[in-house]
Amino acid sequence: MTTPHPYLVGLVGTGVGPSLTPALHMTEGHAQGLDYVYRTLDLNVLGLSPDRVGDVLSWARTLGYDALNITHPCKQLVVEHLDDIDDTARALGAVNTVVFRGGRAHGYNTDITGFAHGFTEGLPGASTSHVILVGAGGAGTAVAAALLGLGTDHLTVVDLDVDRATALAGDLAARHPQAHVDASSFDKLSVLLPEADGVVHATPTGMAEHPGIAFDTALLHPGLWVADIVYRPLDTALLQTARATGCRTLDGGHMAVHQAVDAFALITGLAPDAARMSAHFRNLVA
Ligand code: NAD
Repeated sequence: MTTPHPYLVGLVGTGVGPSLTPALHMTEGHAQGLDYVYRTLDLNVLGLSPDRVGDVLSWARTLGYDALNITHPCKQLVVEHLDDIDDTARALGAVNTVVFRGGRAHGYNTDITGFAHGFTEGLPGASTSHVILVGAGGAGTAVAAALLGLGTDHLTVVDLDVDRATALAGDLAARHPQAHVDASSFDKLSVLLPEADGVVHATPTGMAEHPGIAFDTALLHPGLWVADIVYRPLDTALLQTARATGCRTLDGGHMAVHQAVDAFALITGLAPDAARMSAHFRNLVA
C-alpha cells in the first residue's frame, strides 16, 4: 500500500496570523483524506523584510514545501523569483499562489479567479455592461482584471487617490483594448451610479476596524447590483443598505472562499468541495 503524498503549504506575508486560509485548506484537505499541513510564515514574526520573499521561496522549496500562498505586501515582489507565471497573473504583475512542481516555481493569481468564480456563483446573470469599481488598491486591481475577464464592456475606476485610479485604468485599458476602461473622481459617482449595472466596493471601509460606507448610499437604486469584497463582517453596512434599497448583493466571502478553493485545486490537482469550504468559512467568520 502506498502512503498518500503529505502536503506542506505556507502563507507568506505580514500580519498573517489571523488569516482564515490555513484552516480552510487544512479542513478541506482532511475531509478529502489528505495529510495536509498549512502554516503561516509571518515576515514580521520571522524578522524578515518583504524584499526577502525570494529567500523565503528558496528556503520553502528546499525544505519540501509543496506550495505557498503570498499576500500583502509580497504579491508583486515575488514575481521576479518565479520560473513560470500564468498569463493572467503576469499581466497583473501580482501572484498570490506559488506551486513547486517538477523543480520549478509556478505563479498564479487566485484573487482574480476567486472573484470571478464568486461573482458567477453569487450574482448569476448579472449584467456587466457598465461596472463601477470603488477602490484601486491591490484587491481592487485583481477585481478589475476579473471583471474584464468576465466580459465587462465599460469599467470605471474610482478611488480617493485619483492618480492611483487613473494609473490603474490606463494600465487596464492598454491590456484590454476590447473594453472601455476609464477613471473618475468620487464626486462623479452621482452621475455614474444611476446609469451603471453594478458597483464593486474594494476599499477597507466597512471592515470592523474601519466602520462606515465609502460612498453616498442615496445613489443606490434597485436596478444596481452591489458587491462588497470586505468580509469581516460579511454583512457590511453597504450591503445592508443595498438590500434595503432592493439591490442584488454579493458579499466578500465569495471571493475569499474561491481564492482558497482555486489555490487548493492548483496545489493538489484535486477538486475541492466549494460548498463545504464556503460553509466552513461562514462558520469561522460568524
Ligand atoms: P489597499 O490599501 O491596497 O487599497 C485600498 C484602496 O482604497 C486605496 O487605493 C485607497 O486609496 C482606497 N480607499 C481607502 N479608503 C477609501 C474610501 N473611503 N473611499 C475610496 N477609496 C478609498 O487595500 P487592498 O489590499 O486593496 O484591500 C482593500 C480591502 O479589500 C481590504 O481592507 C479587505 O477588506 C478587502 N479584501 C478582501 C478580499 C477577499 O477575498 N474578499 C481579499 C483582499 C482584500
